Amino acid sequence: MNELVVASSNPGKIAELVDLLGDRFVVRSRPTDLPDTVEDGETLEANATKKAVEVAAHTGAAALADDTGLFVDALDGRPGVRTARYAGENASNDENVTKMLTELDGATDRRARFRTVIALTGPAGETQLATGTVEGVISTERRGADGFGYDPIFIPDDGDGRTFAEMGKAEKQKISHRARALRALLDQLG
Ligand code: IMP
Repeated sequence: MNELVVASSNPGKIAELVDLLGDRFVVRSRPTDLPDTVEDGETLEANATKKAVEVAAHTGAAALADDTGLFVDALDGRPGVRTARYAGENASNDENVTKMLTELDGATDRRARFRTVIALTGPAGETQLATGTVEGVISTERRGADGFGYDPIFIPDDGDGRTFAEMGKAEKQKISHRARALRALLDQLG
């Protein structure tokens, strides 16, 4: 079976990828001697591609990278590509969520979407991209203890009114932006 190196070292993400790709690839995590990629692109596509190309070049194997943004209508699409750094360069999830609730305080239009771009770079350097989106609204307060990031304040349209943080992992994975991008990639691979 072909080897696939994941550009992330986040155990949660790797487990999710093994779940969806494990019967097609032997999945390995990011080599520990490879410094983090500087994510300075202006788009999710640019950052995902940069990460996958660096890891493929370093390992000589196929590499897969993802980049996600939260796009909020009332904020003209912000924080978008800067979602991880929304409340500052090394912002915690909690600080990001607090800033979002503060910026949207009193807003009636709370529509938003998560968008993930996945890049798969082959050993020869060629890259394929796939995208997944989940539409929803930003809640007015935190709800739920599961998940990570903005999960406590994101209510997906394809649910029953609960936030992502109130859903179990399997339930979230059925509709999540990242899972949809991965399935789109698998469809492209045929
Ligand atoms: P990354 O591209 O996976 O590093 O994610 C960028 C930003 O989006 C980080 O602030 C993450 O916490 C957030 N994020 C990514 N995926 C999710 C998700 O499934 N739920 C909530 N927040 C997410």
